[in-house]
Amino acid sequence: MVFINEAPRQVPVIYEADVCVVGGSCTGVFAAIRAARLGAKVVIVECQNSFGGVAANGLVTVWHSFFDTDDKEQIIAGLTEEAMERLDKNDCFIDETLAHVFNPTELKCTLDEMLNEAGVKIYLHTYYAGVSCQGDTVDAVFVENKDGRGAIKAKFFIDATGDGDICRDLGIERYVNPRMQPPSYVFLMQGNDEYACRDIDLKGSDPITHLMNKHAEEFNIERDWGWATDLPGLVNIKMRANTHVFDVNCGKADDLTRAEIVGRDKMRKITRLLRKYGDPAEKYSVVNDCSYIGVRDTFHYRTAYQANYLSLLLGEACDDCILRGTYEVDSHHSDEGITFLRFDGTSVTEDTYGNITIGSWRRDMGIDPDLPVPKFYQLPFKTLVTEKHRNIIAAGRMINADPSAFGALRVMVNLNQIGEAAGVAAYLAVSQNKSVQELDGAQVARTMSKSGSANLG
Ligand SMILES: Cc1cc2nc3c(=O)[nH]c(=O)nc-3n(C[C@H](O)[C@H](O)[C@H](O)COP(=O)(O)OP(=O)(O)OC[C@H]3O[C@@H](n4cnc5c(N)ncnc54)[C@H](O)[C@@H]3O)c2cc1C
Repeated sequence: MVFINEAPRQVPVIYEADVCVVGGSCTGVFAAIRAARLGAKVVIVECQNSFGGVAANGLVTVWHSFFDTDDKEQIIAGLTEEAMERLDKNDCFIDETLAHVFNPTELKCTLDEMLNEAGVKIYLHTYYAGVSCQGDTVDAVFVENKDGRGAIKAKFFIDATGDGDICRDLGIERYVNPRMQPPSYVFLMQGNDEYACRDIDLKGSDPITHLMNKHAEEFNIERDWGWATDLPGLVNIKMRANTHVFDVNCGKADDLTRAEIVGRDKMRKITRLLRKYGDPAEKYSVVNDCSYIGVRDTFHYRTAYQANYLSLLLGEACDDCILRGTYEVDSHHSDEGITFLRFDGTSVTEDTYGNITIGSWRRDMGIDPDLPVPKFYQLPFKTLVTEKHRNIIAAGRMINADPSAFGALRVMVNLNQIGEAAGVAAYLAVSQNKSVQELDGAQVARTMSKSGSANLG
């Protein structure tokens, strides 16, 4: 590689805070609000024009159940529940799988409102561009926006960039999981898709995917597995995610660029396919596409503990529990469709032809069949603690987790809780003048519960 030297320059400190959050999906926003409500001075930096990350700008508008698998005990509350309550009933509904489906634009407005009420200093259209670290302590991040380059100083930093951009620059050991989960280019489409599939022997979960696979060759589309959902208040318009892009690592610039272009092209081909094979009376049209491709999986960063799927699916308890969840392992793979691993020990794989194979991961792993089936899983605080750097936590899909544990933890009701834990930990570290390694994880859990999370500690 050829290098060029950049001239050294003085950079103005544009803001100083107790806690600086970089990345403004709900993970980052909830981290910021938690820390601010506890009394910290907080700043948040987001490169897009709004908050919400994949949920809002990626049009992924589904948060899973807040209850245990019996649907009796509420295991998730906190800011996830508060955000849903703030959405008007017209802008959110609960579908039969007990998932919360919301209007993405309304979510953006709700997050603006919550951040403003908490007194968080906001920078939109502001890109994280580098870090300054003295020994093991991060002292500033560099950002770029319409004012040029600036530095933000803080006592504690939360990397909520999804890919872990600050962790990358700090040189924290990183890895990618084998069979990295592919991204999808999500869009909202107008037109009745049921009619389009009236003559098809439906085997899979999503009719359009089936139609798409039937005519894949004619439209030069890769075979795929996908899903769709209605949206609150919208008639004859669905959010569609039938557009996986395979063999890319969106943590790399070239791959990310290719994924955007290939995903967008797939969306257009699906629309054309529906215009040819759908209801002639319908006007199949994309009414909105994501601001950027929905990225599921890129780099993960080493911390004191790697989440593993056996501990999760066997319901291992911990006293520093920062997250409770029920979303079981859900892995999209490059060429075979999708696999779920359930608490009860079954595994279910649906391939791109709609064929379903049922197995038993408990039996395959030699697990005692008498072991009880848990109703939710727990995640310990130590999953967030890096080994060296004293004042930073990475919160989000860059989590240190094995591929299957990641398949469960990656959903937003889980990452939202991780964001809240990061915000609480940041506040405690600053107010107690401690490093993240010195924090008492059980106290983080108790503090989360006291301020609204469902009974963690
Ligand atoms: C197609 C698809 C469908 C999914 N379906 C579901 C589902 O139904 N339910 C569910 O719960 N989960 C689902 N998931 C998973 C879930 O959406 C993601 O795992 C989750 O949103 C990741 O959150 P995050 O906070 O880690 O990252 P992101 O949502 O990616 O947020 C990162 C934020 O950081 C900002 N950022 C990044 N880099 C910088 C920078 N350098 N400077 C400033 N800001 C920066 C980004 O703009 C963004 O706002 C799906 C994911 C995809 C892609």
